[in-house]
Amino acid sequence: MAETEHDLTRFIRTVQDFPTSGIDFKDISPLLADAHAFSQSIEMLADYYRDKQIEYVAGIEARGFLIAAALSLQLEVGLLPIRKSGKLPGPVFSLGYELEYGSATLELQKGCFSEGSNILIVDDVLATGGTAECAAQLVNLAGGKIAGFGFLISLDFLAGRKRIAGYEEVALVRYD
Ligand code: AMP
Repeated sequence: MAETEHDLTRFIRTVQDFPTSGIDFKDISPLLADAHAFSQSIEMLADYYRDKQIEYVAGIEARGFLIAAALSLQLEVGLLPIRKSGKLPGPVFSLGYELEYGSATLELQKGCFSEGSNILIVDDVLATGGTAECAAQLVNLAGGKIAGFGFLISLDFLAGRKRIAGYEEVALVRYD
């Protein structure tokens, strides 16, 4: 039987003031640890994107890798890691973006897919959308076509969708 959004919520722990004061961290560890909840989550994302001619799933470091790896196997397509600065051997495309406090850089290896490939970008949580927007810009820079985004969780009250407006976006659990 398929999980509903309500069921999946039971496997997401909200941890106040982690990793810093004022952040309500959405901990997906219980979901990952439950074979049924995890496989149903992947199946729900795969169901949505199965007929959309996805050629690669790109996962954003680090928790995005967990979702992307499982989803790429389910969709029977390749996996592309989008990593934090300095982790991928070059040559790489590199793009910086602003965080609430400070900045970060994401990288994608050059030549890992052919021009025009249809790429689904995946992460665990969509919050302010800066990370997803940067990932989208990287994929575009590398010549990929963005098929859409997949998240386990969207923090809708942070309006991250606005940063990736125009792209398809699926989140299994939404917090208003
Ligand atoms: P943002 O760029 O603000 O959309 O943040 C998204 C990235 O930060 C994702 O890679 C998430 O893993 C992480 N993140 C941001 N906020 C949270 C949160 N409240 N709980 C868990 N992860 C978060």
